[in-house]
Amino acid sequence: MSTIATYENLLNILAKAPGHIYWKDIKGVYQGSNDAQAIFLGFKNGKDLIGKTDFDLPWKDQAIHLQQIDNQVMKTQKEYCVEEIVSSQKKVKTTFLSRKIPLYDLNTNKVIGIIGTSIDITESKQAELAKQQFIMNMAHDLRTPLSGIIGLSNIQSKEGTNAVDRQHSQWIEGAGEQLLELLNSVLEVTAAEYQIESIAKDTIYFQQFAEELQALMFPALVAKELDFKVKLDAHLPLIITDRIKLKRLVLNLLANAIKFTKKGKVGLEIKLLSIEKNKAKVEILVTDTGIGIAEDKLDKIFDRFYRAHPSYEAQYTGYGIGLFLVKKTVKLLNGQIKVSSEEGKGSCFTAIFSFPLAEEKIKPSISQQLRSKPEADEQTESVLLAEDNSLVLHAVKNLLVSLGYEVTTVTDGKAALNALQTQCFHWGLLDIGLPGLAGTEVAKAYRQWEKEHKEIKVPLFALTAHAIDEVKEECEAVGFDYILNKPFTIKDVQIIKLFMENKKSS
Ligand code: ADP
Repeated sequence: MSTIATYENLLNILAKAPGHIYWKDIKGVYQGSNDAQAIFLGFKNGKDLIGKTDFDLPWKDQAIHLQQIDNQVMKTQKEYCVEEIVSSQKKVKTTFLSRKIPLYDLNTNKVIGIIGTSIDITESKQAELAKQQFIMNMAHDLRTPLSGIIGLSNIQSKEGTNAVDRQHSQWIEGAGEQLLELLNSVLEVTAAEYQIESIAKDTIYFQQFAEELQALMFPALVAKELDFKVKLDAHLPLIITDRIKLKRLVLNLLANAIKFTKKGKVGLEIKLLSIEKNKAKVEILVTDTGIGIAEDKLDKIFDRFYRAHPSYEAQYTGYGIGLFLVKKTVKLLNGQIKVSSEEGKGSCFTAIFSFPLAEEKIKPSISQQLRSKPEADEQTESVLLAEDNSLVLHAVKNLLVSLGYEVTTVTDGKAALNALQTQCFHWGLLDIGLPGLAGTEVAKAYRQWEKEHKEIKVPLFALTAHAIDEVKEECEAVGFDYILNKPFTIKDVQIIKLFMENKKSS
């Protein structure tokens, strides 16, 4: 066959062209397609598709959506590019990258339909997913040994034999913390892209919420000698939202406000705008008197990896991830965020949410109780520690021993269960990822055994490198009393202490 552009040749080339090519009239009726499109839909060739609409095809459940896209293309006369997941004749879900443009009448130049091309990107989508999974696994697996390094250097920075060693250990700990933060950000970005975020329903008492934020920001504010003004609306009700996500979001904004402010003040204001139909409209403002952001950069700062003040211009470090995550989280919590700023004067980030009202009574948070309770009397408690990572095991054991606990260590699940059944412990701390029997399996088996033998319940604490949200339900279901995140620090010991005291007094 000659490839000279005769009409017949052109038709043949169109029919056999790779990818999917199709065109429809103004009402969405197919006027033709290449063979690939027709065969995907169970027809022989493009001619068979003429006269059909999307409602007649295997992807009819998406027909309305497809029609809306076509209508938009014809109305705006602009190209539309979209990823579409649709079913083939064989009911196989396929992902296409589709581009659609208006089809014009040759004589009148009026829009008479659309032309579309679609390329099957299912395989590359799957590869992308596998890559994201890999990044998530890797970031997660790196956290465990890193927790060990941080824990050990923390001990060494306090107990090192000379000042130089202690200083070095402090730096190692600081660098480790920074790395941990970066890993957490990588995990968050990947998770956000992966859309595996679930939203918890916690009751928020704003007074306590603001106090917790203030306590967390305090060291950084003191270090930079900045004032911190918190203003809360007296009428703020109890509301329901994901406590961790909302907190992380505001923390990110506050951390930026502090980072980009040399002198003056940082402010946090929470306003009640209205209450309607069991929902409270709440505005959260984070303000600073810092370097500000140039107007032409304002709409870019929420983009991933974008930094309006790169480190070569000034001393500001960062990865340009914080605000990207803030925006994702605001969207996830059905809110909106905006920013106003003036260079050299300061910035104001405003997030608005419509939160469902809560009816429950409030319980003071653990941190509040910790602050108000006097230190408990020191007494020797015997503790079981099950952890397979020798670095973490060593760091946690050292910490507990230095606080006066008697610690028995085991490095696998079977040994942990055996120890719990044959020895007496005040409480147990189990890594949930133990080899052999996982920590969760140990807890389950031990709770069962306790019941059968009518033993007094020994409190069990789970130690995990996962985000607590991810494993909370599973851990609670198998009988853990509390879940603690790695790295295990003195704060976690205080939580355990508090738990044990509450148990004694109840
Ligand atoms: P990072 O701070 O890690 O670079 P972010 O995503 O949190 O990343 O912020 C993106 C950019 O927006 C920052 O690099 C900075 O240039 C700018 N920015 C964010 N918050 C402020 C602020 N409060 N004042 C001035 N600039 C800010």
